[in-house]
Amino acid sequence: MSKKRIVVLTGAGVSAESGIKTFRDSGGLWEEYDIMDVATPEAWERNRDLVMEFYNQRRKQLYEVEPNAAHYALAELEKDYDVRIITQNVDDLHERAGSTHVMHLHGELKKVRSSVDENLVYTLDGWELKPGDKCEKGSQLRPHIVWFGEPVHMIPAAAELSATADIYVIIGTSLNVYPAAGLVDYVRPGTPVYLIDPAEPGAIHIPKFTFIQEKAGTGTKKLVEEYL
Ligand code: NAD
Repeated sequence: MSKKRIVVLTGAGVSAESGIKTFRDSGGLWEEYDIMDVATPEAWERNRDLVMEFYNQRRKQLYEVEPNAAHYALAELEKDYDVRIITQNVDDLHERAGSTHVMHLHGELKKVRSSVDENLVYTLDGWELKPGDKCEKGSQLRPHIVWFGEPVHMIPAAAELSATADIYVIIGTSLNVYPAAGLVDYVRPGTPVYLIDPAEPGAIHIPKFTFIQEKAGTGTKKLVEEYL
């Protein structure tokens, strides 16, 4: 018999216990930086050095942190389920924990791309992207990140994947950032949906879901032990 498919949508909260700050929690990144200064195409045009520095710091930190219990539990689930992860995160902690099907909606921190041809994507050697680092077409390399105001090319594929779920799990996302937050709309009616987050969900427009009000590590363990 083929394995049941679990589609997991993760956000910044799944990596919080690894020591990577979320954006909206208190002490989150938004308090230190203005989003308009670091995560928009306009910011890139205005002050490339600041944008590069912001992502260099995030990338550097990524080399210093480890996957946590939630990432490992999701990787472990592949023994019994066909697990597909859709993540809003730009870190690589799901992959490092051993998950083999990870779709990154908003790009990947360890990758950079051409600023004239978005199909030219490279894995950066080390953590630092420098002014003067160029693609093969001679343009400055930029972080491989989907900035606010840029299209999320992976959404149709993620929506299609969401519609194939036998079980849908949402971990550590405030469901504030569209279009990612709209993916739950594609889950087939009647599919069990679990939401793991220490905070009450905001606007979630699915009629029925099980809320596991826990941090990602303990919440994912509880999901596996009590609900699956
Ligand atoms: P968000 O900051 O809007 O929401 C974070 C959610 O995580 C909140 O609901 C919060 O209650 C929850 N949370 C906090 N601690 C948690 C824990 N220990 N366990 C489980 N949940 C916890 O983040 P978002 O919804 O992912 O959207 C913000 C955007 O920021 C995303 O697009 C993402 O690309 C980006 N981002 C990525 C990273 C990363 O790659 N690790 C980090 C910060 C932000």
